[in-house]
Amino acid sequence: MSFIVAIDGPAGSGKGTITEIISKKLGLVNIGSGAAYRCVALETINKRIDLKETEKIIKILDEINIEYKIENKQNVIYLNGKNVTQRIREKDVATIVSPISSIKEVRFRLNDLFRDCAKNKDVIMEGRDIGTYVFPNADIKIYLDATIEERVKRRYKQNQENGIEMDYEEILKNIKKRDENDKNKEIGALKQAEDAIYIDSSNMSIEEVANKVIDIIKQKRKI
Ligand code: C5P
Repeated sequence: MSFIVAIDGPAGSGKGTITEIISKKLGLVNIGSGAAYRCVALETINKRIDLKETEKIIKILDEINIEYKIENKQNVIYLNGKNVTQRIREKDVATIVSPISSIKEVRFRLNDLFRDCAKNKDVIMEGRDIGTYVFPNADIKIYLDATIEERVKRRYKQNQENGIEMDYEEILKNIKKRDENDKNKEIGALKQAEDAIYIDSSNMSIEEVANKVIDIIKQKRKI
């Protein structure tokens, strides 16, 4: 039996940061779904495949190996044996990841990977469709939101900390486009599950959000 916490929400809502904190504090395995989509996007770039060549992108799925690991207490992701944790955050990947994640075959295959990774484990998973589609029976579902201005500010700060050059306007454009694309996907569109708890983090600190979610998890795990 596994205990599953699903955290969904738009880009820059703080899902990644919150999930990382909670996974460490409560010892839950962290499976970042966005990172897997980013790996497929990176491999598309590495193989110089055009976004229009859907068949070739689908073929990548037969050849790639994505692994979630913990190194020096940090969650890292490997693509074909190489640590790509930082690389997948770069601009070229961010630009094409949303259309790539709209390809149904990509979603089906990665969803299988996620379900496999979660088997018999207590996990926390963040994404867009975890509570609605990947794990509709998750024990806890959170929909984390924030205003677009706040989300752009956060992404800007995160990029600066990671040495990624992208100005405010560029991030705004990128996030708006991703919101639009994520909400209109044929399968796995971003939306709040009916039984999800909604948290607007616009005026909350990371710590406040993390503590709120931890309280929710602790209450439920006790039952
Ligand atoms: O969360 P992150 O920004 O890393 O996700 C990258 C992209 O992957 C998102 O913009 C979204 O298009 C896609 N994604 C998705 N379904 C998920 C997680 C991410 O379509 N469960």
